[in-house]
Amino acid sequence: MKTDRNIPYKIYLSEEEMPKQWYNVRADMKTKPAPLLNPGTGEPLKAEELAPIFCEDLVAQELDNDTPYIDIPEEIRTCYKTFRPSPLVRAYFLEEALGTPAKIYYKYEGNNTSGSHKLNSAMAQAYYAKKQGLKGVTTETGAGQWGTALSMACSLFGLDCKVYMVKVSYEQKPFRREVMRTYGASVTPSPSMTTEIGKKILAEHPGTTGSLGCAISEAVEAATTHEGYRYVLGSVLNQVLLHQSVIGLEAKTALDKYGVKPDIIIGCAGGGSNLGGLIAPFMGQKLRGEADYRIIAVEPASCPSLTRGKYAYDFCDTGKVCPLAKMYTLGSGFIPAPNHAGGLRYHGMSPVLSELYDEGLMEATSVVQTDVFAAAEQFARVEGILPAPESSHAIRVAIDEALKCKETGEEKTILFGLTGTGYFDMFAYEKFHNGEMTDYIPTDEELAASFATLPKVGC
Ligand SMILES: *Cc1c(COP(=O)(O)O)cnc(C)c1O
Repeated sequence: MKTDRNIPYKIYLSEEEMPKQWYNVRADMKTKPAPLLNPGTGEPLKAEELAPIFCEDLVAQELDNDTPYIDIPEEIRTCYKTFRPSPLVRAYFLEEALGTPAKIYYKYEGNNTSGSHKLNSAMAQAYYAKKQGLKGVTTETGAGQWGTALSMACSLFGLDCKVYMVKVSYEQKPFRREVMRTYGASVTPSPSMTTEIGKKILAEHPGTTGSLGCAISEAVEAATTHEGYRYVLGSVLNQVLLHQSVIGLEAKTALDKYGVKPDIIIGCAGGGSNLGGLIAPFMGQKLRGEADYRIIAVEPASCPSLTRGKYAYDFCDTGKVCPLAKMYTLGSGFIPAPNHAGGLRYHGMSPVLSELYDEGLMEATSVVQTDVFAAAEQFARVEGILPAPESSHAIRVAIDEALKCKETGEEKTILFGLTGTGYFDMFAYEKFHNGEMTDYIPTDEELAASFATLPKVGC
């Protein structure tokens, strides 16, 4: 075992060293992410049109393509201190097990009760809702991490929280549901009969187990039909990437302290918020021509929006009630195969990351879930942390890159985002251990059918 460690196993920052501002990567992008469009008129949405759906301050952040640094209100920083700074870990044990000359670091965001990075944006969004004097917020949740994070944040700020949870997760992850209820949220399986759009989806697809896209439609409807409520979203949006920049800013401060510069930065990508947050300050340097990094987004082969999707305007939800966003998408009707257990199941990708990817400023790759779980297990056995399946997509590619270094003898420095814990994913781990987990890669025909439903606007 390597014992000559000039860099600590965990690099912790002090509270003082935590970021005081979020970094908005859009400010340094030459081509800005495409604007959200009104689905009715096809025109870019104005702040007034977004205000009935989203909180005021969050609308301003959503539309701000120019301000590079945005102050983190002191109230949010205080809440952040309950679970941040998060550690940057040098994966000495994993390096040793792989026999690689590569140096691997991971930023671990799972050290809070919600178990993931999502609390970074939940705290911010709940704060702005409270500041506006709202009664509560509505949202959707898939696997349950976002709903849990938002429930925690709402209880802290004294807000009501209505969560629409994708039905299959509601049934498979009863403990997540109960964590949310412990924090005072009401949780409804989606699609449900509590909204018009839910009724419509159920009539068209009886017995459906739901999707994130359906749950978003229901949550938006619930927000716009209840006085004093707004809708909040845990990924994809520009504002969420902005809040998540704390991940990258902290990681960079910690690495800078020891004079370490990563060669490769890897993150899993569902809607793109953790990856967008992790890479933000590094991408900023890259955009300004100050430094270069290889940046890799990792997605599931069963939901490959970047690697096989189309860069086009699409609906963010199945019910088509949300604004249109230009993004890499599989089509808003796309639902990953039922055997897919690894999360990251949203049909589209953050417009910011979509634009950066389209310009060749970052790469993307996809991995099958049995390989993901093999990496998760290998990681858990040496590093101790039980990783979330989502996070394990990044682990897979970090291990693969480290093994390439073993072949070439290159001492590359790899940084990856370890977004959360897998305690609520033990059914998926069980399937893997029993050899019952299978991989499914959608065919070109299936994707073509889904692309055919893309709206014909803004092309
Ligand atoms: C939600 C989630 C993700 C994926 O969401 P992004 O917005 O792409 O970051 C990844 N890991 C964990 C643990 C999550 O909860």
